[in-house]
Amino acid sequence: MRTITLIIIHCSATKAGQCYTFEQCRRDHLRRGWKDIGYHFYITRDGSVHEGRALSEVGAHCKDHNAHSIGICYEGGLDMAGHVCDTRTKAQRRSMRRLLETLHERFPGAIIMGHRDLSPDLDGNGRIEPEEWMKQCPSFDVLMDYWDLEPAGLLGDVG
Ligand SMILES: [Zn+2]
Repeated sequence: MRTITLIIIHCSATKAGQCYTFEQCRRDHLRRGWKDIGYHFYITRDGSVHEGRALSEVGAHCKDHNAHSIGICYEGGLDMAGHVCDTRTKAQRRSMRRLLETLHERFPGAIIMGHRDLSPDLDGNGRIEPEEWMKQCPSFDVLMDYWDLEPAGLLGDVG
């Protein structure tokens, strides 16, 4: 098994009411010349967790961070008008939490982050702020939702 230091969450940037299935995503990634879908897991609106690449294989989902990470994508991320929006359904939230709990147990040292949290720290203050985000993916605050599944000590001494 590879060393896993990061679990990176993505959205498919699909508008509310539109469908972008696991098969469509895989097909689009194969068209780019990749050997398989870039993610390790893909969670559709119905809450189904589709397995993409094997965990032992390097994914293709976050430039410069693929070697030691796991990529998870959910179907959605935009409202009807195409604006950034946390469109996760109840079923998707449930599945994502369950999946992250399992991965956290297996890789307790891995930091769970949103794709946008890996943007460059332009002003070098040690924090990736909204104006520094290269893109909005995955349209929600990952640290806020899954703080309880982060490695011990990551968020400081909160008693
Ligand atoms: Zn992304």
